[in-house]
Amino acid sequence: MVRTLRSLAAALTLAAALPLASGCTTNPATGESNFTPFMTPGQEAAIGRDEHPKVVAEFGVYQEMPALNAYVAQIALRLHSASEMANQPFTFTLLDSDMVNAFAIPGGYVYVTRGLMALANSEAEFAGVVGHEIGHVTARHSAQRSTQQVFAGLGAATIGVALQDQEIANLANMGAMAWVQGYSRSQELESDQLGIRYLTRAGYDPLAMSSFLEQLGRETALAQQLMFQDGEADPADNWFSTHPRTQDRVAAAAQSARATVTNPRVARDEYLRQIDGMIYGDSPSQGYVRGRTFSHPELRLTFQVPEGFRMINGSQQLVAINEQGAAIRFDADQAAQGQAMTNYLVNTWLQGRQPEGLERIDVNGKEGATGSIRQQGQNGVVDIRLVAVRWDAQTVYRFLFVNPAGQTAALSEPFRRTTYSLRSLSASEAAALRPLRLRVVEVRSGDTIASLAERMAFDDFRRERFMVLNGLDSDRDLQPGMLVKIVVEG
Ligand SMILES: [Zn+2]
Repeated sequence: MVRTLRSLAAALTLAAALPLASGCTTNPATGESNFTPFMTPGQEAAIGRDEHPKVVAEFGVYQEMPALNAYVAQIALRLHSASEMANQPFTFTLLDSDMVNAFAIPGGYVYVTRGLMALANSEAEFAGVVGHEIGHVTARHSAQRSTQQVFAGLGAATIGVALQDQEIANLANMGAMAWVQGYSRSQELESDQLGIRYLTRAGYDPLAMSSFLEQLGRETALAQQLMFQDGEADPADNWFSTHPRTQDRVAAAAQSARATVTNPRVARDEYLRQIDGMIYGDSPSQGYVRGRTFSHPELRLTFQVPEGFRMINGSQQLVAINEQGAAIRFDADQAAQGQAMTNYLVNTWLQGRQPEGLERIDVNGKEGATGSIRQQGQNGVVDIRLVAVRWDAQTVYRFLFVNPAGQTAALSEPFRRTTYSLRSLSASEAAALRPLRLRVVEVRSGDTIASLAERMAFDDFRRERFMVLNGLDSDRDLQPGMLVKIVVEG
């Protein structure tokens, strides 16, 4: 969390009042002439220019491996050149996020996460995702709907920041957080067809489009298994949820396109060598979720959430939820301004509303304040405990503990322990925290899924994680000399 404290709320409200462009235009990719876009190409370009810096600020660009960025650019250029918009500028960005996702915004801006790169098993699979996203741009799908929806699909990272009453209510109901789907099914199908077109024109194996969807299916199933056992990302939080599609239709389209490519490029080994060494999971600037502990080496802090809570590490905040609908939000505010924390809590955070049981507390040597409020959520009465801790002259770290009123007695002690677990990390503790990284290794004779999975730097589900990461079904899929991905520390 807290890559940047600037709110993405601005991005969420973008273009709310876009003038409607009326009249008929021909769709560049599909050739349809009865196409009535919301936006002119000029407006699309302007939105992209405005929004691109916000997306970059929200997620960050992954650029510690320049050769990898060059490789991504080269693949993207190959596909872009095969598209109907080859002469228009496109911007491809590799985002520093472990979410498995890709998206495009108007004006030719295409984003792919390193989480998605880690899951793909060949250059062709990765190219299929990029081609699909280029398809959304060339078919001008975002011009056909409100651009607000694009950002609603970005995930937990975009939950609002300012504490407003409505937002407390939203947080209280987060378990049922609805994901606004970015595109319609027919637009997804169209993008798959365009993606397959660009893949085949660029000489790639179009079957990669369907094999990557299978790979995503595996990842989704594992994420569901891991839910509430580990600090894993929300299973709804991947390329499936923002790009819903029908796998067999994609497979059929890819199959028929394949006949048109001679000697199709897959480039499995080359791709794996390029991603060797890439960060896997959270990066140092985002802080690490390891089991129930969150540690941030750059902000030099750590705390622990109660048993049964699953953490979702967004760039603005960290959210933890349990199966019973309780939630914890941790974030930062830069408005300490020398005031006592009790004053901050009432006047700045709650904007004058008086909480119950307001008191000054000491959190491992730092001045803090706490108080609670009870209010009506969408699914009943919720209790909300607020904790503010002064970290330095400007920075206040804040916990918001939200639970249905019936659970307050059972949760107050675990929440209290979380509050008092917040402490600074020493320089050596911070230095000892290392990110996880992908390592690409060669299968030796005698290696099995079990023996290779032993090398994965996880406490649980090593075998399942290894199989999903590599798209393996059984030991028969392993051949000596073949490259596979493992995840190691540091
Ligand atoms: Zn899509």
